[in-house]
Amino acid sequence: MEGMKRGIVFFIPGGVLFFGALLMANVNGLSGFVPSVVGVAPYVVLCAAVFIGWRFNRSALVFSVLILGFCGLTLHLTAGSAGSPTPRAEAVFHFITILLPLNLMILSLLKERGIFTFHGIFRLSMIAVQPVAVAGFSRLHAVAMLEVLKARPLPLEFLDGLALSQTALFAFILGCVVAGLRSVLRQGAKESGFFWAIFALLTGFLTAGRGVVLEFYFTVAGFILLVSLIEASHAMAYKDELTGLPARRALKEDLLKLGHRYALAMVDIDHFKKFNDTYGHDVGDQVLRMVASKLARVTGGGKSFRYGGEEFTVIFPGRYADHARGHLEALRREIAASAFIIRGRSRPKKKPRHVRAGTAPLKSVSVTVSIGVACRDEKRGTPQAVIKAADKALYRAKKQGRNQVCP
Ligand code: GH3
Ligand code: MG
Ligand code: MG
Repeated sequence: MEGMKRGIVFFIPGGVLFFGALLMANVNGLSGFVPSVVGVAPYVVLCAAVFIGWRFNRSALVFSVLILGFCGLTLHLTAGSAGSPTPRAEAVFHFITILLPLNLMILSLLKERGIFTFHGIFRLSMIAVQPVAVAGFSRLHAVAMLEVLKARPLPLEFLDGLALSQTALFAFILGCVVAGLRSVLRQGAKESGFFWAIFALLTGFLTAGRGVVLEFYFTVAGFILLVSLIEASHAMAYKDELTGLPARRALKEDLLKLGHRYALAMVDIDHFKKFNDTYGHDVGDQVLRMVASKLARVTGGGKSFRYGGEEFTVIFPGRYADHARGHLEALRREIAASAFIIRGRSRPKKKPRHVRAGTAPLKSVSVTVSIGVACRDEKRGTPQAVIKAADKALYRAKKQGRNQVCP
């Protein structure tokens, strides 16, 4: 289940778009449309991505599509002349194929620091300096440069037939590996978007030559980045940042999708304020995360949400309260049984070599939750009414001494 979800996050939307593009470029009936796509789509994608990236404050998207647009245009203009390309055009091509994947890879790794900020302007100038340097080098030393660019450190003959030099191939593979690993580790649409964008460009360079089809793959790469950003923003709106659980907005929508039978529970951490007051807000946040991680694995077909603060909601679609109660009881017991280790606030970043006895400020405390359950029936027809009933049950659980489940 978890693995499948991870796979979906990795493939949607970038992978789907990539394979769609691959089909389009290679299936007979479809490839005829590629030139007309390339006629308008690059400009639409570029404008949309710059605009949305600016409005959503996603500098990596804005810079990436600007780079794609600039490189695409340069390749288009330098590939124009018939016959064998000049050494200068060759040098520009090989520079682009090395720098492009590296730039995208670095952009995928950087933290968001804005566009019209010191960091944004600095990044933009680091990007802008490259074409100036490339233009200079390829004008003055094109032939000498070409030898370096086309160097083949590995004596592998089957690589010689490729459009990409060995260095460029290495840059692309590095970009794919780094973006791919990050995507697997981070589980985000943005990360997987960068992977598929770099992969689409690699596919373009290896299969498409330098004409219209390559421009098509450039457009696809930009489109993948754009759609991935929208996907990531959507996920952000529906996911609680601190705990990773679906947030209130997701609960609101899911409640409207419920049928005539469901059980619902309100979960509240006991004496949480005391936790914050005693150990600080950071420790409070850790407790929230720990409790949320248990809630995320609630059994019996339940789905957990962060309702707000230290309160959570679990819905059991299609279940009666009795069924839910058993699973909530198990959840309550599991949370109460797990010891929470408080690390002292003056905890050193690095592990000390010698731990002096008696100074380690480790302390184990336990966290408990109170739970109120209700289910939909004739009296309580709306989700709001069921939530209210569960809240009342929760209040009773608190009054009766906490750390219990009340129907
Ligand atoms: P009870 O057992 O009656 O539920 O007592 P309580 O202290 O848990 O209840 P109360 O509602 O008085 O306190 C909730 C506290 O939760 C208050 C607030 O400081 C804390 N809190 C809410 N959201 C967060 C958060 O995101 N992080 C942290 N660290 N604390 C939070
Ligand atoms: Mg509360
Ligand atoms: Mg509480």
